[in-house]
Amino acid sequence: MLRLSLTARCNLACPYCLPDGTEPPGLLNQAQRLAVVAAAVELGVRQLRLTGGEPLLHPGLEHLIAAVAPLRMGDGLQEVSLTSNGALLTAERARALRAAGLDRLTLSLDGASGEVVAAMAGLRGGPAAGEALLARVLAAIDHARAAGFDPALGALKLNAVIQRGRNEDQLLPLAALARERGVELRLIEFMDVGNRNGWRPEAVLSAVEMVERIGRQWPLESLGRGVHGTASRWSYRDGGGHLAVVASVSAPFCGDCNRLRVTADGRAYTCLFASPASGLDLRPWLLPGIPGGGLRRAIAGLWEGRGDRWSEERQEGGPAVALHAEMAYLGG
Ligand code: SAM
Repeated sequence: MLRLSLTARCNLACPYCLPDGTEPPGLLNQAQRLAVVAAAVELGVRQLRLTGGEPLLHPGLEHLIAAVAPLRMGDGLQEVSLTSNGALLTAERARALRAAGLDRLTLSLDGASGEVVAAMAGLRGGPAAGEALLARVLAAIDHARAAGFDPALGALKLNAVIQRGRNEDQLLPLAALARERGVELRLIEFMDVGNRNGWRPEAVLSAVEMVERIGRQWPLESLGRGVHGTASRWSYRDGGGHLAVVASVSAPFCGDCNRLRVTADGRAYTCLFASPASGLDLRPWLLPGIPGGGLRRAIAGLWEGRGDRWSEERQEGGPAVALHAEMAYLGG
């Protein structure tokens, strides 16, 4: 899977992510992004996820989704998905994304009350600002569904980062909200991505604990984790749909990770927990007149040489990465 970040900017300031507010210099243009996707598909990538920062801030988003359509021919690209905080997802934008060819959409929401939503999104306006954002994201779910992103087919999901002591009390309200709307909730452990979010192991609420708490209210049955999947899935025994947990910290799955990450300024990373310097700058192979084979070879070389298993090493008490690339830069 290729995760391509379109922008490092975000319209929210979630303290666990802390985006820059400005773009890195040397942002890729649309032709360069397309060249990266084409090279990745030639190398065997079948899924593309567009992310950020906040990808809905990127004016060329729909154009890019439409432009990758020819790469779907034969056994090429099979799926194009998007991760967004949903704040800017109007009915019109949802329809435009669907019409452009977007297959799946994951929206992020870390609470079900105005107060918690405001705190988790870093909003200055207090509970009222949180209520307004919550209302926009709930409307975004409706707009997405109306545009054809069917949650029953897995085309619409909800992400929530859960931090112990900050929004752990939102587990049941968020699960209830997702169950009511028939949307799969994906609970993500608080990760030590970046250097600005004050991560401490004690602030991680483990996936096991999340499942236990929700399962006490609504009994769950394990469906396991799919091949190359990040999430372990569960089904509600009462028929209330599905729940998923991403245990990147407590139960790492480095050996099964197939994600290549390319930042908005064209650096390729093979690990979410990587150090900033470990990224490979793809821009020299994206200059006008440089044959595409060079870009393919550069990506293939990076991929074949990858050995990072930072999350497993953290768990084994091995050498931790001193400096991490920022989440908003890597694109999650
Ligand atoms: N702005 C978009 C959004 O909010 O979905 C896309 C980018 S965001 C970096 C992608 C996902 O990463 C979001 O669901 C976000 O909550 C999650 N995320 C960011 N920082 C995280 C952290 N430190 N630990 C766990 N998940 C995090």
